[in-house]
Amino acid sequence: MVGFPNAGSGEIIRDIAATITANRAYLSEIDGLIGDGDHGVNMAKGFGRAADRIPANASLSEAMAILSDVLMAEIGGSMGPLYGTMFLEMSDTLDGAETIDAPTFAAMLRAGFDGVTAVGDAAVGDKTMIDALAPAVATAETGATGDMAAMLRDVAEAAEAGRDATTDMVAKLGRSARLGERSRGVLDAGATSCAMILRGLSDGAAARLREGTE
Ligand code: ADP
Ligand code: MG
Repeated sequence: MVGFPNAGSGEIIRDIAATITANRAYLSEIDGLIGDGDHGVNMAKGFGRAADRIPANASLSEAMAILSDVLMAEIGGSMGPLYGTMFLEMSDTLDGAETIDAPTFAAMLRAGFDGVTAVGDAAVGDKTMIDALAPAVATAETGATGDMAAMLRDVAEAAEAGRDATTDMVAKLGRSARLGERSRGVLDAGATSCAMILRGLSDGAAARLREGTE
């Protein structure tokens, strides 16, 4: 079975945190065009604090649980409960897994998606993080029976295409929905951070792929 080890892969979350922190100003700038301009600040605060608290040898599921706790308890805005729930559900899916293979990775994304939509009730086309997450989940489920490296690459690309598609959308949920038609023409901040997270998960997994013994 091809997969990557859960043990020791908490580093993937630290790498994602570094990407989010590096893009703090960019994410707030995008949010500022049709929202209140705090997305990068919220995200960098949460991911930065989590990175500081993740032990060096943490598993991916442990690191996700720590991140979820910080987001839920310490981060304001829409993103705390939404990403907090996403990472909690992902962590629960991986808990107990020794090797994360393609079906497990797909199940992890599915659980995250189900959690976020249960909390926020967003649909594809509403111009939210769901526009990056939904195509990633669908791509993972389609590719789960095939080559895992290819699946991971396709997942990240699907998320980025979904992010790009938000430019032409009118926001239906959250702060920017108040702008109506005027919300068209710019990227959604949450979809942008979500594509970064999915790229980080996919690249981190791909870098650790190996032939398992199970
Ligand atoms: P706030 O909107 O409270 O300022 P952030 O700026 O951190 O919070 O996050 C804004 C992002 O939250 C939006 O770009 C959008 O992607 C996402 N979002 C808002 N409402 C929802 C929802 N109900 N479901 C999913 N994502 C949402
Ligand atoms: Mg905001």
